[in-house]
Amino acid sequence: MQALVLEPTLDLSIRNIAVDETLGPHDVRIALTRVGVCGSDVHYYTHGRIGPFVVKEPMILGHEAAGRVVEVGDAVTSLKTGDRVCMEPGIPDPNGRATRLGLYNLDPAVRFWATPPVHGVLRPTVVHPAAFTFKLPDNVSDAEGAMVEPLAVGMQAANKARIKPGDLAVVMGAGPIGMVTALAALAGGCSRVVITDVQQPKLDLAATLGPIVPINVREEKVVEVIAGMTDGWGADVVFECSGNANAAAGIFDLLCPGGCGVFVGIPLEPVPYDVAKGQIKETRVEHVFRYAHVYPRTLDLMSSGMINVKPLITDTFSFAESVKAFDYAVNMPPTSVKVQIEMG
Ligand code: ZN
Repeated sequence: MQALVLEPTLDLSIRNIAVDETLGPHDVRIALTRVGVCGSDVHYYTHGRIGPFVVKEPMILGHEAAGRVVEVGDAVTSLKTGDRVCMEPGIPDPNGRATRLGLYNLDPAVRFWATPPVHGVLRPTVVHPAAFTFKLPDNVSDAEGAMVEPLAVGMQAANKARIKPGDLAVVMGAGPIGMVTALAALAGGCSRVVITDVQQPKLDLAATLGPIVPINVREEKVVEVIAGMTDGWGADVVFECSGNANAAAGIFDLLCPGGCGVFVGIPLEPVPYDVAKGQIKETRVEHVFRYAHVYPRTLDLMSSGMINVKPLITDTFSFAESVKAFDYAVNMPPTSVKVQIEMG
């Protein structure tokens, strides 16, 4: 099949590649319609690795996907041919200990699209377990369906924070994950979200998404803004989505006593984390790795109108322009949030 293939030499091209697509009884075959370009896809393109995951064999990129069911396995009852769907890209070992405990995102044996050595889905079709394939509501477009994957990370973060109605949250970083975390936090009950970044166009876009207060950390001190908004008390929740080690080290300065800090962005360097500052406030600290059990709720929030991701889809390329789309994503202008590729 013709797919967008990354070579270990970091060459990227649309080329023919053989992929095993045997349909098992519990699987569906899906024709891809939309695939989002993720920071991780771009990082593999520019660096050939993310931590221990190294591109050693040619690998198809892409894991944020929506499509149409074109064939169903004999045992599948939840889906039928023609259904519009989105997919969870990570398939755990059903017999693994973490999976049996419900922590399937933490299964060490998970096979996740476009994480070496597993192929991604910038290709015409994929065979996928029906259990990890979700029907899109009629009023959720394929483009929005392909946003469920990044939004699921924000949903996982909101779950971990155990938001209470009326909470004030800070989201550090207005990249795609910061934006979707802000949306999930508002849907989860936050009265207001303060979002920080250094790129003004991203902050301006964030401010249009709901009761979101944009703070450009080049111009304002977020600690002072939060202190001013809360009579010096602090924010109930801080979501660290920037992956910046210095920003991450400062979460306790923003939190109220008893507040919760959630690490969402993955820092490239170890974070100098001041335990004593956290102790003085008895803060709770949570960590997010991908997500589990959130796709149906995410789709319900999109369908009901509580979450609108459409403004985040800033750039769309055709499949034939995939390499161009990736080169664009490598040097993305600050006005862009999510690049998607229209398949077919
Ligand atoms: Zn992603």
